[in-house]
Amino acid sequence: MFQINENYQKLPGSYLFSTIAKKVAAFTQENPEKSIIRLGIGDVTQPLAPAITDAMHKAVDEMGSAETFHGYAPDLGYEFLRKAIAENDYRARGCDIAEDEIFVSDGAKSDSANIQEIFAAESRIAVCDPVYPVYVDSNVMAGRTGTYDAKTERWSDVIYMPCTAENGFVPEFPKETPDLIYLCLPNNPTGTTLTRDQLQKWVDYANQAGAVILYDGAYEAYISEADVAHSIYECKGAKTCAIELKSFSKNAGFTGVRLGYTVVPKELKCNGISLNGMWARRHGTKFNGAPYIVQRAGEAVYSAEGKAQLKEQVAYYMKNAAVIKQGLKECGYTVFGGVNAPYIWLKTPGGMTSWEFFDHLLEKAGVVGTPGSGFGPSGEGYFRLTAFGSYENTAAAVERIKKL
Ligand SMILES: *Cc1c(COP(=O)(O)O)cnc(C)c1O
Repeated sequence: MFQINENYQKLPGSYLFSTIAKKVAAFTQENPEKSIIRLGIGDVTQPLAPAITDAMHKAVDEMGSAETFHGYAPDLGYEFLRKAIAENDYRARGCDIAEDEIFVSDGAKSDSANIQEIFAAESRIAVCDPVYPVYVDSNVMAGRTGTYDAKTERWSDVIYMPCTAENGFVPEFPKETPDLIYLCLPNNPTGTTLTRDQLQKWVDYANQAGAVILYDGAYEAYISEADVAHSIYECKGAKTCAIELKSFSKNAGFTGVRLGYTVVPKELKCNGISLNGMWARRHGTKFNGAPYIVQRAGEAVYSAEGKAQLKEQVAYYMKNAAVIKQGLKECGYTVFGGVNAPYIWLKTPGGMTSWEFFDHLLEKAGVVGTPGSGFGPSGEGYFRLTAFGSYENTAAAVERIKKL
């Protein structure tokens, strides 16, 4: 009789977004006349920029002609895209990253879930709390997290680093030494980030501890402050301790197009064995490349027109973030984030739990957000609003909240 991977049975149900959907559906049924504004889910709403759709149309035509047709893409991604990435995302920022240290993929969710498999089964992982659930769940599936305690909402073998208002959302070095450290900066869900100096301390810590930092930079395009690093490789010594995961989803609206990349520096080694070589082998065996049309779209992100159009798109969302942050501040909320990320993380008023505030906001204002407790126990008492809606809806939602 076949056996299943029992680790999947250990996964606690992720009820966050399904519970939200159920509550919203129930409310709409009872109050069909009330309009709902959704500032909950972390998906973009603006259409693809013209420079990108132009590049895609052109690539589609190429695919329709025998002379310019493309079959399987090269394992690591097309050179035209890896060159554009190396030049624009790294060398232009003084980071010495070569084309063959870049692995093009279909997005950062899959890369951040898959990267754990090149590490030993007994590796100890450290995550921030609250956290993007993929990091933990992918390690649960691999059998690396021990047992789950439903009461504390924690895994016995995971090292948690609480990030709350008390520590300024700056994770502290854990007491036990981790092997793998997941950092998402700027952060989803808190919308906060670290300065370059604070990140440098983590790089120094990882090098000293012999740990690898898995650095998720999905929100890099939203950085507005000069003392925040756009890449972990801006920190000295990062090439011997860090893997960087990037996505085209949030900077260019590729959530439905699918494109990302992972940087594994050649200097990153374990007992002389190169992780770059291991990831190349893994990529070549288990992945057959992002589509040619999509990689051409990705190249257009780095064209002069693409850059200008996407700068506007990011500014559009960040204007929403400012409207939310300013509006909530004016009516007495304690708010975080929204400066280097499209998320506002607010303290729930009057000691309400995250879910109590969710119900309050839905019933009294018709606004949907995300309860902070859904991202981990340290998210209790917080609430996330996203800046990814339309300006009109965002401004209307803030007006409704002001009237509460
Ligand atoms: C949105 C997001 C991503 C991007 O995932 P894709 O698979 O590239 O769409 C990665 N990490 C975090 C934390 C995110 O919020």
